[in-house]
Amino acid sequence: MNGLTLVWLRNDLRLSDNPALHSACSGRDPVVAVYVIETDRAQRHAGAAAAWWLGKSLCSLSEQLRRIGVSLLVEEGPAGRVVPETAKRLGASSVVWNRRYEPGQREVDSAVKAALKARDIAATSFPGNVLAEPWTVKTGGGTPFKVFSAFARAVREKEIDAPLPAPRASKNRAASNIEPTPLADDTSAVWTQKIDAFWDIGEAAARKRLTHFLDEIVADYPKGRDIPGVDGTSMLSPHLRFGEISARQIWHAATAITHEKPAIASAIDKFLGEIIWRDFNNHLLYHNEDISTVPMRPVFDHVRWRKDDDALHAWQRGETGIPIVDAGMRQLWETGWMHNRVRMLVASFLVKNLMIDWRVGEEWFWDTLVDADDANNPGNWQWVAGCGMDAAPYFRIFNPVLQGQKFDTEGDYVRQWVPEIAALPERWIHRPWEAPRDVLSSAGVSLGKTYPRPLVDLKASQARAKEVLSGRDNHGVSAARPS
Ligand SMILES: Cc1cc2nc3c(=O)[nH]c(=O)nc-3n(C[C@H](O)[C@H](O)[C@H](O)COP(=O)(O)OP(=O)(O)OC[C@H]3O[C@@H](n4cnc5c(N)ncnc54)[C@H](O)[C@@H]3O)c2cc1C
Repeated sequence: MNGLTLVWLRNDLRLSDNPALHSACSGRDPVVAVYVIETDRAQRHAGAAAAWWLGKSLCSLSEQLRRIGVSLLVEEGPAGRVVPETAKRLGASSVVWNRRYEPGQREVDSAVKAALKARDIAATSFPGNVLAEPWTVKTGGGTPFKVFSAFARAVREKEIDAPLPAPRASKNRAASNIEPTPLADDTSAVWTQKIDAFWDIGEAAARKRLTHFLDEIVADYPKGRDIPGVDGTSMLSPHLRFGEISARQIWHAATAITHEKPAIASAIDKFLGEIIWRDFNNHLLYHNEDISTVPMRPVFDHVRWRKDDDALHAWQRGETGIPIVDAGMRQLWETGWMHNRVRMLVASFLVKNLMIDWRVGEEWFWDTLVDADDANNPGNWQWVAGCGMDAAPYFRIFNPVLQGQKFDTEGDYVRQWVPEIAALPERWIHRPWEAPRDVLSSAGVSLGKTYPRPLVDLKASQARAKEVLSGRDNHGVSAARPS
């Protein structure tokens, strides 16, 4: 026996298809796992909702690891110091981890590697939670991709590694006598109780959801994924964010169904396209210094964004007076998740109708989403704003009324999340400010009292956004309320 192998867990809170854990458990040395709540300056700290998920996920993982004879330690501090110190304290001869792709995190990982090597401790890293590592996908000219469709073609041409099995308890592996860190499953805060009721967290829950999605939902995914009022998507995003399931596992499970049920092959293909979008955002993250603060294309350098705290708070609380926007923001607040179509609508409303900087919206999502992700959150905000790679053009401004009527035709989604207007008939549910007085009153709606009037005039604010973003006008839109 050489010593002990320490597995440094990060965005990979699972046993199966975990290359670092698999490698550690294939040897004879005792294995201990550590999760570090990182406080390095380069690190962006998890937002409140994601931190809540993490706490629960670690509880679940600790129990799973215990069953295979691996103790989980949870430490706090700069990883650059904590990981080498923990390795030394435990007498580890080797530390292993799965890679991550954010530039600041890569710097931390390199520093850890150097510190370990200086102490004569071996350090080995393995592929992280993507289909293809960012540097392995290149254009013909050897440069990073900027266009999604070409990137997706390149990924599809690759052989995606088959998932690894979960390690088992083994008599061949020496036991460690290290006690795991006691972890409490804390849901005492009121806001977490609502979110808690909504989710099952951990690797087993992620697998169950994938199976349910592939059995019951994916066949209708191409249409269902756009309807926020139905259970039409996988809802795997927080599980993927924390690595309770891997992109490779999803890829292979979905592809296997394609072979069994060729009739739904195109629906599965559409779904896998979204998993590739996730890889694309990781690719962009890898190649761009700081995508949460620096536009990937400096197209809006001329724009003076509006600073309007009242409008921002109304948006955050779901009190803009635009029903589908309010429904989305309240779904986010109550569940820590929002449907993708509605994410696009609320983001477009903030950036283009309210002319508030996309980074302000990104930060709110960062704090409130359970799936808040270093790659997907800023990548998508930049996409909606129009400064991302392969982004929506600046003049693409969603009309939330038309979008509501198209994708929430009967208003089910709005009724669920904005109950104060639930009694409005279908015709007016997405534009209560245009409803006749008698309709409003028989639905118990009093605009400005029981439900806000629209924060901005949609047409005027859209026109102004086009002027400002195109560079023809540099003034922020006025927040005038229609009478
Ligand atoms: C403004 C904005 C912010 C977003 N922030 C995040 C975020 O922080 N974290 C996050 O995981 N996703 C984010 N998304 C992308 C997308 O909305 C979510 O991934 C999706 O809604 C999650 O639900 P699902 O798992 O049911 O998705 P499905 O439709 O079932 O898709 C399966 C998986 O594919 C990936 N995926 C789906 N859509 C996208 C997309 N547009 N871009 C990249 N990957 C995608 C996700 O990992 C998702 O879990 C954001 C989108 C917008 C418009």
